[in-house]
Amino acid sequence: MLPVSLARDIVSPSSSLLAVPADREGITENEPSHLLAGWASPDASLPGGLTRRNLRSLFGTVDEPAFWSTGHAFQLAHWDRSHQYCGWCGGPTKLDSGELARQCEECGRSVYPRISPAVIVAVIRDRTLLLAHNARRSHAFYSVLAGFVEPGETLEECVVREVREEVNVTVGNVRYVRSQPWPFPDALMIAFTAEYVEGEIEVDGTEIDHAYWCGPHELPHVPPRPSVARALIDRFVEMFG
Ligand SMILES: [Zn+2]
Repeated sequence: MLPVSLARDIVSPSSSLLAVPADREGITENEPSHLLAGWASPDASLPGGLTRRNLRSLFGTVDEPAFWSTGHAFQLAHWDRSHQYCGWCGGPTKLDSGELARQCEECGRSVYPRISPAVIVAVIRDRTLLLAHNARRSHAFYSVLAGFVEPGETLEECVVREVREEVNVTVGNVRYVRSQPWPFPDALMIAFTAEYVEGEIEVDGTEIDHAYWCGPHELPHVPPRPSVARALIDRFVEMFG
């Protein structure tokens, strides 16, 4: 991972823009560099070499090391911005000099960068894959199901619950595949496969508005690489196509 720092001198709560160096499109892991991420107000003057980019605009358009390093910086910048005050006593916080934490100047409590775990699952039934359309998104993508882990449940329990809640299908044999940071703004996607057990698809209508069993040769519009959703879909096609 490339070194990351926060562009604290241009931090402003009034903008959601990400500032990254203008020449980042060519970096590779063999060319150590330094990335900056911060929240630049529209009228802020940026340090030399920086440009304003929205993180999503970089997805799939720059090489993977550049994207993931920028995502790393973005996650830290998001955490830094959203933890300027203590959640316990309301006092101001400051960056800890010894570790990656913000410490309250009044009660001394520390807060660390937040990561929100989420499961994503390829459900397989008789050589078909469960694909669903997100009711909250206007795009035409169909993808595998995903959802945030709740307090008190295991990742496997989360997979079973999410699939049941969103499409009313029961799954079993939940198997870990891989994981991927997902800096929109602070998720960690944990990918699984699962096997269909029983139930007919009945979408919840709020998160999912359509879902169906798709064969390996009839894929609709699916998420782009390098998303872990696409990796699960490609894996399904490799196995059953
Ligand atoms: Zn405090």
